[in-house]
This record gives sequence, C-alpha cells and structure tokens, in this order.
Amino acid sequence: MLKSVKKLRRRKRSMVFISFPGDEKSSGGCVAAGRGFFHINSHGGAEPCPFSPYSDINVKDTSLREALKSPLFKALQTEGLLADDHIGGCTLYMNRDKVEAIINANN
Ligand code: SF4
Repeated sequence: MLKSVKKLRRRKRSMVFISFPGDEKSSGGCVAAGRGFFHINSHGGAEPCPFSPYSDINVKDTSLREALKSPLFKALQTEGLLADDHIGGCTLYMNRDKVEAIINANN
C-alpha cells in the first residue's frame, strides 16, 4: 500500500493523497479529529475518522469551523491520544475505550 501511494504521489503531483492508516508515523501521529482531517458520516455527524465512528456534533446544525472545535475533537487533540507512537495500526481504534469515555463524559 505504501509503495502504491508513493507511486501515485510521484505520478499525480497536483493531487493530495492521504493514506490512513499509513501516513500517521510520518505526520507525527494520528491525523484525525481535525489535526489533518475529519470525517462526516451519512447523517452529518462529524467523526474523528471513519475508523473512529464517534460524533458529538452534526454539521447540519453547525458550521464546519465550529465542528472542528467539538468537545470530542478538542479532547482528542489535548489529551495526547493523537500523538501515540504508530506501529501501523489505528491508534483511536486501539484506544476506543478512552474515546468512548470522552464521549460519555461530555454527554
Ligand atoms: S483514527 Fe486511526 S486510521 Fe484514522 S487517522 Fe487516526 S490512526 Fe489513522
């Protein structure tokens, strides 16, 4: 996968390719929760990433800028979960109990 992404980046220089899981190590950690991107599910829920399908804000009710400041995203950014060392897996999936605890504490 990494070889394929590198090849695409060389061939299509005007496009941005993000590989997740994959790019976290070279990006200094998880790029979800607004650190690099976030995901909007089919109901409008703003989630850290498709691999971390939790949401506490809906873009039908707020702006994208406000969604980036959601309590969940802020907690993930400040509590160090995004900075975990990456060995190839998904840090938010491996720490899903902590993500769920944040969601539950804010509800
Ligand atoms: S949530 Fe998982 S898959 Fe998504 S960017 Fe973070 S580490 Fe990668």
